[in-house]
Parts: sequence; C-alpha cells; structure tokens
Amino acid sequence: MAFPLKSPSRADLARQCVKCGLCLPHCPTYVLAGMEAESPRGRIALMADLAENPAQTGDFKHLDACLGCRRCETACPADVSYEQLLVETRATHRPALERRQKAALWLMAHKSLLNGVLDLYRRVFPLLPSSWRPLPRPAPACTPAAAARSQNAIFIGCVADRYEQNARMAFLQLLQAAGDDADLPSSQGCCGQAARHAGQTARAASLAAANQSTFSGYAQVLVLASGCHSALQDSVGVPVMDAMAYLAERAEKLQFRSAQGRHVALHIPCTAAFHDSAQVTHLLLSRIPDLQVSVLPDAGCCGGAGLHQFGSPERAAALRAPVLAAIPETAELLLSANIGCRLHLSSGRAVQHPLEFMAHYLA
Ligand code: SF4
Ligand code: SF4
Repeated sequence: MAFPLKSPSRADLARQCVKCGLCLPHCPTYVLAGMEAESPRGRIALMADLAENPAQTGDFKHLDACLGCRRCETACPADVSYEQLLVETRATHRPALERRQKAALWLMAHKSLLNGVLDLYRRVFPLLPSSWRPLPRPAPACTPAAAARSQNAIFIGCVADRYEQNARMAFLQLLQAAGDDADLPSSQGCCGQAARHAGQTARAASLAAANQSTFSGYAQVLVLASGCHSALQDSVGVPVMDAMAYLAERAEKLQFRSAQGRHVALHIPCTAAFHDSAQVTHLLLSRIPDLQVSVLPDAGCCGGAGLHQFGSPERAAALRAPVLAAIPETAELLLSANIGCRLHLSSGRAVQHPLEFMAHYLA
C-alpha cells in the first residue's frame, strides 16, 4: 500500500536554511535597508519562530515588507524553498495591506469589474493629473476573431487583458508565421499569485479552480508573463510553457527583416530565473538582423513586485531607479517579458514585451 508523502512543515522548510548569508546581497529589501530583519535569513528566522509559536501576535512588518521576488531562492546554495515557506506563513499571518492593495486584489479576482474600471480609467486618463495616474493608459477592449480550436491556449490573466493585448496579438502573428496557432479562451481570470503572496489562499484556490476548468482539454497553456508562470504551473492541471520558450523551439521557421541598427535594452524579470525564459528571449531577438541588444546588468528587483508598486510607491521608485539607470543611453526602447515589471518601469520609459518588438520585424 502506497502512502502519500507528507509535505514538509513550515518548521522543516525553515530548518533548510544554514544561515550562510549568501542570499543577503541579492535581496532588494536588505540592500535598501541594510538590516538583518529585512533579509531572507532574518525573515526565515522569524517564520521559524512563527511556525513553532503560531499563537504569537505582534508587529511582523519586516515579513510584510518581503517583495516575494524569490531572488534569495536563486542565490541559495541550500535550496531553501523560500516562496513555499512565505506563502504558508502568510496564510496564517496575513500581511497588512494598504487600501489600494486590497482594492487591487479584489478587482483582480473580479475580472469583469476590473475591466470596467480600466475602461473608465482609459476614458478619463487624459484629464487626470500625473499624481492620479498610478498605471499607464490601458488599451481599449479587443475581442479577436474566433479561430478553429487549437491544442494551445494563451493565458490572458487579469490586468494583462487590457495591458497586454498588443503582445498577445504579436504572439499570434509569430505563431502563425511559424505555422502554429493558439486559442484565447475568454472565460479565464487571474493566476492567483498576488492572492497567494497576500496570504489569501482560499481566493487563490478559487481562481485556480476557475482556470483549471477553462484550460481542461488543452494540451498546454502558453504564458507571456513570467510572474504568472509559477502559480499557473502549480494549479491549472495542464502543462504550462513560457511563450518565448515555445517560439524558440520553432525559431528556424521565423524570418525577420533588418532592424537597421536599432539598439534595445532587455530587462530580465526576477521571475524569469525560474522558467529559463531570459536565455531564449535573447536567442530569439538575436535572429533579427542588425539589432543591437543590451541585456541589462542585474540591478536588483525593479520594485514592481505584484502589488508592491501600489502599496509602497516610494520604495518601489527607489528600487526602480538603479534599473532605469542601467539602461544604456543609446538604447531607444526597453523590453521586458513580465507585465508587472512593464507597468512599473513604463514610468518615463517606453517599454514593450519582446514579442511585440519581434512581430514588428517579421519578414
Ligand atoms: S523574496 Fe525577495 S524581498 Fe523577500 S527575502 Fe527573498 S530576496 Fe528578499
Ligand atoms: S542563502 Fe539560503 S541557506 Fe544561506 S542564509 Fe540565505 S536562505 Fe539561508
């Protein structure tokens, strides 16, 4: 008789940390604050304590301040499952959220209302003072013509419905050029990652169940945003693949015209490290003749980090500054494959999804 393996407890997860401190210089909040409590090691110690003494109450502001960027995980030689520990801890010790973060979370879970709000925001955007424009102007609603049923489905998500339309259309164009296709099922919603990181596990589970029903029957779900990838692959019940990685497997079929010496900067989102999308994105862009691509040196998390940009705009701006400063002067455009980073970095910079840029140069 087979017994299911017991998943590690929070205390077990925390014990994986050998306290070496190698993650500290990779943690954006530690770099900003220079305090152990704002480091992964400090937070793991606190989470270990909370696992042993769950009834304790108090001020967990340093845990709440964690961006969930997972940069510590990529640097950790002991393979500490930091995100799992964080999500499980926050499910019992929910972070304190700002009003704007609560509103954003609620809207992300109610997509038709979210789209209604974004449509209104689009209409009044030209009349708003810049301080009332937390996000760029969204695109108008667009329903693509229904195609014959494909075995691939494209993940649309929540805010990306209005903010990623051009990238999705570009992806469909590239797929077509490679002799392939994909559906855009309309009955899908948020991946639930923001809800997970906010400790709202019931809401995340309900969003996952809705997406699971939408995507059942497809061979795979193709995802454009690296930030949504992890939550989806753990929840939709069908294989999930990065859109750039999918195209890279068909790269030989794509022909591009010359970019005539243009220079672009490529931003690598923190979450790309978990899906190997950075390398394939660079590889695909390198197929465009006469294009200079500068991969940005690692200047830390851009500060977008899901809801962080709404809850702590000043800290988000401080984290963004070194990323923007790393862009070479001659680069006329910034490319980034994650919706949250693009929304945050677009303040004062032209930012596109790499797919949009590539489709523009299709021969
Ligand atoms: S997830 Fe990011 S902000 Fe949180 S401890 Fe790890 S590196 Fe620091
Ligand atoms: S690198 Fe890993 S083991 Fe070392 S302190 Fe950070 S989380 Fe702990």
